[in-house]
Amino acid sequence: MLYDLPSRVHGLLPACVLLLGWLCLVPVTAQGQAHTASDPALLIHGGAGSISADEMSDERETAYREALRTALKEGNAVLQNGGSALEAVQAAITTMESDTLFNAGRGAVLTSENTVELDAAIMDGKTRNAGALTGVKTVKHPIRLARTIMEESYHVMFAQDGAEAFARQQGLELVENDYFITEARRSGDGREAADPPSAPDEKFGTVGAVALDVDGNLAAGTSTGGISNKEFGRVGDSPIIGAGTYASNRSCAVSATGQGEFFIRGVAAHSIASRVRFGDMSLSDAAQATIDEIEELGGVGGVIVLDREGNMATPFSTQGMFRARVGADGEMTVRIFGDE
Ligand code: ASP
Repeated sequence: MLYDLPSRVHGLLPACVLLLGWLCLVPVTAQGQAHTASDPALLIHGGAGSISADEMSDERETAYREALRTALKEGNAVLQNGGSALEAVQAAITTMESDTLFNAGRGAVLTSENTVELDAAIMDGKTRNAGALTGVKTVKHPIRLARTIMEESYHVMFAQDGAEAFARQQGLELVENDYFITEARRSGDGREAADPPSAPDEKFGTVGAVALDVDGNLAAGTSTGGISNKEFGRVGDSPIIGAGTYASNRSCAVSATGQGEFFIRGVAAHSIASRVRFGDMSLSDAAQATIDEIEELGGVGGVIVLDREGNMATPFSTQGMFRARVGADGEMTVRIFGDE
């Protein structure tokens, strides 16, 4: 037996060399899981709510579809050029923040004091680093501030004056609060001063994006003016990591829209990630289960979710949700209504 050993070891050598070579070539993720190159994917939303084909004019429907396609293209261009999921999320959201159709950046809803207060968050699924802000009134692109907080600060979240001061210190573009207020919002869009914040038949035009890049990394981001008629200082789910926004390479990337109070109480985004990671559930079952749970609490809304295999789901409990996707086949799909 002893005499056999050297020749056996000798025989195993080529296999060992091959194995070592393979181990060196396959990238190892932050979590220590081997991951080969991925097909990039991007999923965006522009809010959920009482959105029905009967009540929307053809012009408005076309405008929304074009706006979603434009934002999807911006984000997808980043991914196709080898850019990161974080960059793609930021590009798609920045585009929607500039579009007055959405409740984010310019065109955001008004508070009960007729001002605009913006919330945003971004999260990197590879490192689980995150940046978030709430109640900013002068930062032109809140999603850029979220990214800057993530990358340039020790902290995860800044609020109101502190967020503005950090943005100024970092040289981000600032504008007057009036810049965000459009004529449509000023004239109320049907809003009465006595309306309760976020009447259930309202539209939640928050924007969000989840992306998977060629390196197999996920990212998520959300940006919003919150809910219409919200009280001064109110914080929604969008900037709260684990409620409206979450990303982890271990599970999935999530961005939510809807009645934020319920998404906070249901810790919605993280509960989807936990169901995927520990609950042995498919991505779409996990997302649906969380939307059902939010409904049990009394809230409505929707989520967009994406995992490292490029699986996607967009469940919502409202009539419709503005949403668009592009995956491995490169085909871009834009949907608005519930029956599409
Ligand atoms: N979830 C957002 C909030 O409660 C609103 C929305 O989705 O439009 O602030």
